[in-house]
Amino acid sequence: MFDYLIVGAGFAGSVLAERLANGSGKKVLICDRRPHIAGNAYDYYNDEGVLIHKYGPHIFHTNSREVFDYLGRFTEWREYQHRVLACVDGMLLPIPINLDTINKLYGLNLTAFEVEDFFKKVAEPCDQVRTSEDVVVSKVGRELYEKFFRNYTRKQWGLDPSELDASVTSRVPTRTNRDDRYFTDTYQAMPKHGYTRMFEKMLDHPNIKVMLNCDYREIVDTIPFREMIYTGPVDAFFDYVYGKLPYRSLEFRHETHDTERFQSAPVVNYPNEQAYTRITEFKYLTGQEHRKTSVVYEYPQAEGDPYYPIPRKENAEIYGKYKTLADARPDVHFVGRLATYKYYNMDQIVAQALTEYGKIVGMKRREATVFKAPAVEKRRLPLTVLPAVNGNGKSLPTNLS
Ligand code: FAD
Ligand code: UDP
Repeated sequence: MFDYLIVGAGFAGSVLAERLANGSGKKVLICDRRPHIAGNAYDYYNDEGVLIHKYGPHIFHTNSREVFDYLGRFTEWREYQHRVLACVDGMLLPIPINLDTINKLYGLNLTAFEVEDFFKKVAEPCDQVRTSEDVVVSKVGRELYEKFFRNYTRKQWGLDPSELDASVTSRVPTRTNRDDRYFTDTYQAMPKHGYTRMFEKMLDHPNIKVMLNCDYREIVDTIPFREMIYTGPVDAFFDYVYGKLPYRSLEFRHETHDTERFQSAPVVNYPNEQAYTRITEFKYLTGQEHRKTSVVYEYPQAEGDPYYPIPRKENAEIYGKYKTLADARPDVHFVGRLATYKYYNMDQIVAQALTEYGKIVGMKRREATVFKAPAVEKRRLPLTVLPAVNGNGKSLPTNLS
C-alpha cells in the first residue's frame, strides 16, 4: 500500500515525492504519462550530443533563498544571467526595453535621466492598469508597445494584450539604465548537469517508485494508496464538467547546426514578422562546449499539450468552479501550474509544493525543507522503475563546464 499516489513527475510532483519520502518516511508512487521525469523542465542530450530542453528554454531564477538552497541539495549550480534580444525594425535590441534599446532604435544618445523624460512624453497614463495593453502603453507608449509587445502577445496567446490580465506583460519590466539582464532575481543559475539529473537525485529514494508512460487513470483503481497528489490539468481531473479550461500550447521545432554559434544571444525574440515567437540557443544556457549547436523555435498554438494557463477574468471564473470541486476532495491535493491554473515559474512551483508539504505534515514551509533522515548518500541509478516503463534510459554525459 502506498501512502501517496503522485500524478506528474514535474517540479510539483517530484518535490512532494522527495519531501514525503525523505522528510516523513512515506511510501510514494509517482507516475507520469510522459516517458520521462522532470515535466516541462526535462532536458536530454540529443543525437548530436548537445544538451537541450525538450519543452523550450528553462532558466532558473528566484529571490527565495529557501527554494534555491532546497534544490541545491540535488544539484550543483552554474551561475547564469539570462539575456534576450528582440528583432525589431531589422535590428537586434535588448529586451526588457532599456536605455540602449531606445538609443539604438531611434539613433539617439540619451542618458538615463533623459530616457526617463522620453518615457514620460510617450507614455499614455491610464486611471487603472487592468490589462496587458495598459501595463505597456502606460509606461512606454503606443509605438514601443506596437513594436515589441502587441504582435508577440497576439501570437503567443492568440489574444490581444487588451484581453489579457496585466500580470502577463508585467513579467517584463522597463528600465532606464543599461541593465540588459532578463531577470534581476537574487539567485540566477542553471543546474550544472541539467534538470533531469537534478530530478533523478530528488527521486532517488528507496520509498519512491517511479512509473513512466503511465496515465494515472490506468492504475488508480488497481494500485492501493491512501491519498493522491495531482499535478495534471484540473479540468481533466473533473472530466471537464464545467467545460475545458483554456491552456495555450506550443510546437517546439528543434534544429542542430554544424557551427559553434548560431545567434548572438541566448534567446532572440521575434515579435513581428515571423510565425514563431523566439529562438533559443541552448549552449548559452547550459555552458556546454560542443562543435555543433542546437536551437529551438517556438510556434504558439491552441491545441496540443497544455503549457500555459491563460490569465484572464473569464478563465479565472471557470477555474474558480473547478477549485470549489477540488476543495471538496480532502483525499486529493492539487498542486502545480496545471492543477492550480497559475502562470507560475519553476521556483514558485517549488515554493507551492513545499507549502503543501508543510500543510500535509502540519509544519511551516521553512521547517518543511529540513531533512529528517540524512540525504541518501549512495545514489542508486537508474531509478527504481516499475515494469513497462522507462522511456529514456540513456545515461547522461557530463561534458558541461
Ligand atoms: P509540469 O512540469 O507540467 O508537470 C506536470 C506533469 O504531469 C507533466 O509531466 C505531465 O505529463 C504529467 N501529467 C499530466 N496529466 C497526467 C496524467 N493524467 N497522468 C500522469 N501524468 C500526468 N519557468 C521558469 O522558472 N523559468 C523559465 O525559463 C521557464 N520557461 C518556460 C518555458 C516554457 C516553454 C514553458 C511551457 C514553461 C516555462 N517555465 C519556466 C515554467 C515551468 O515549466 C513550470 O513552472 C514548471 O515546469 C511547472 O511544474 P509542474 O510540476 O507544475 O508542471
Ligand atoms: N512579451 C512580449 N514581447 C517580448 C517578450 C514578452 O510581448 O519580447 C510578453 C508576451 O505576452 C509574453 C509575456 O510578455 O507572453 C511574458 O514574457 P516571458 O518572457 O516572461 O514569457 P515566458 O518565458 O513565460 O513564455
